[in-house]
Amino acid sequence: MANPVVAIVGRPNVGKSTLFNRIVGERISIVEDVPGVTRDRIYSMSEWLDHHFHLIDTGGIAFDDHDELLDHIRYQAELAIDEADVIVFVVDATTGITSTDEEVAKMLYRSQKPVVLAVNKADNPERMGNIYEFYSLGFDEPIGVSSTHGLGIGDLLDAVIKHFPVKADEEYNEEVIRVSLIGRPNVGKSSLVNALLGEERVIVSEIAGTTRDAIDTMLTQDDQEFVIIDTAGMRKRGKVYESTEKYSVLRALRAIERSDVCLTIINAEEGIIEQDKRIAGYAHEAGRAAIIVVNKWDALEKDDKTFHQFTQKIRDEFLFLSYAPILFVSAKTTQRIQQILPKVQEVSDQHAMRIPTHVLNDLIQEATTVTPPPSDKGRRLRINYATQVSVKPPTFVLFVNDTELMHFSYQRYLENRIREAFPFEGTPIRIIVRNKS
Ligand code: GDP
Ligand code: GDP
Repeated sequence: MANPVVAIVGRPNVGKSTLFNRIVGERISIVEDVPGVTRDRIYSMSEWLDHHFHLIDTGGIAFDDHDELLDHIRYQAELAIDEADVIVFVVDATTGITSTDEEVAKMLYRSQKPVVLAVNKADNPERMGNIYEFYSLGFDEPIGVSSTHGLGIGDLLDAVIKHFPVKADEEYNEEVIRVSLIGRPNVGKSSLVNALLGEERVIVSEIAGTTRDAIDTMLTQDDQEFVIIDTAGMRKRGKVYESTEKYSVLRALRAIERSDVCLTIINAEEGIIEQDKRIAGYAHEAGRAAIIVVNKWDALEKDDKTFHQFTQKIRDEFLFLSYAPILFVSAKTTQRIQQILPKVQEVSDQHAMRIPTHVLNDLIQEATTVTPPPSDKGRRLRINYATQVSVKPPTFVLFVNDTELMHFSYQRYLENRIREAFPFEGTPIRIIVRNKS
């Protein structure tokens, strides 16, 4: 099941983005280490007492500029109501209740979604005393917080996680390959799903229960079952936020989580933009298998260099996805559509592959002989033992004499050696370095 979504709403200047940054804090700096992935400052994965959740700062989602302020806030609240499991409604202890707060409160109240009221800027005991007036907004106990000072954040998160839905069992059995098509609006996700379902050898067995996130389509090809998690199929047509690119990230996030294999769809006509990389970056970080699918290949003027140039451009832009195969397709003409599912099956196999421990250790041994590990002040890194601890994605633990001696570049070298022996096409691999106890 996908992780719950928590949305922060409230009028401008109450401190939504400060609160967002406070909650996600260090996490942002960690994930920024992935080269070539730019962070969205409005979506982040967060964690509190072993509960993982997505956090959205709805204030960061811009709508058309010509709309009134109140409309903006309304769209943000609407998005939160539709998408979030829990809403954090932020108000300002220094200003008291404003008429805009009351407007937002009315919308949230009608939605019947769980709302946690955060009275921000309660930096000192005197301001903490101001929070009681906010009872009149009609929610449970207001929680005083100071986002700049980091006060009350734990209490706030305690209240938030109490409202999380109870986790359900995994929805599909292990053999089914869960696939999602992710990408910006208009790259052709829906068209590609339709093209896949229309393929000759594909048997669509069932349109499974519609979850809130997506419509799942079961299909079979050559005895392999797939489920397509179609985020585009669940469009809430007519909603203002639906066409915003920032919103498409949220859709992608939830689909990524439920998938084994993510197809990042690129529009050949428009080329690659930042948003494409962001979405693909989330799939990479989540450890999903990946294929880059360049759609609308029919719409491009091509000569004998186009294919090579486009491939190179993708490799340059998606440095972190160097393992992902690339397919050039057209949903419109169905060109190469039949290659998609077999490729999905291939990368899915690689995603689930295990290297026997003795083979892995021989490989590491040889790698360290060819290029000895780095040393620091006379001490050299020694790798005592390596083992693969999990799959999806393949994850390796190296037990060493001192983790401090492991350098990023050496770890990269080891990853490359592993990939020379076992390509792991289409899957990220993880290496964890531990001190030998
Ligand atoms: P947003 O428009 O709701 O996202 O608000 P921002 O996060 O941009 O914050 C608006 C202003 O309030 C900024 O100047 C922040 O530094 C300030 N602010 C945010 N949180 C606090 C707080 O807990 N205490 C105080 N004193 N100021 C805060
Ligand atoms: P989504 O928003 O990513 O689901 O994109 P859609 O599937 O709705 O497609 C967006 C637009 O691109 C529609 O007008 C499609 O007809 C068009 N389109 C989709 N795939 C192709 C393709 O392979 N070639 C061309 N020329 N147009 C396409």
